[in-house]
Amino acid sequence: MENPILKLIQDLVSGNNSIIVEMDKVKNKPKLVPEEQELADSLLKIAEKYGKFNEDETGIWAGYIDARENEVAQIGVKCSNCALYEGNGSCKIIAQSVEPNGRCRFAVIPDGVVNGIVDGMIKKVKK
Ligand code: SF4
Repeated sequence: MENPILKLIQDLVSGNNSIIVEMDKVKNKPKLVPEEQELADSLLKIAEKYGKFNEDETGIWAGYIDARENEVAQIGVKCSNCALYEGNGSCKIIAQSVEPNGRCRFAVIPDGVVNGIVDGMIKKVKK
């Protein structure tokens, strides 16, 4: 049986990027898999019930990192790829203003959008 990780690495090294991002045709955005959608829905419910998350000493800590310090933005882990990003520096669950290339500890990102793990593996393979 073919190893799917090895196949993905071979495709990426050969320039045949076969990652398929399933699109939500209504929202024209990448579609979340069911468990990611449930995570997003749960976070929204909590934020609606208790207020948006912040960085104070109580409750849920947002753990927001601005664009300058977000070391994984280049691989796609960033607000602009998150299902909870509203645009114009606004997040559905985080109280503060956010940047498109920032992130918090809850980033809800559709499958196929982030490929950093694969990048890391390719670097290892090339050594
Ligand atoms: S990564 Fe965090 S701060 Fe950014 S849009 Fe998503 S939930 Fe909001």
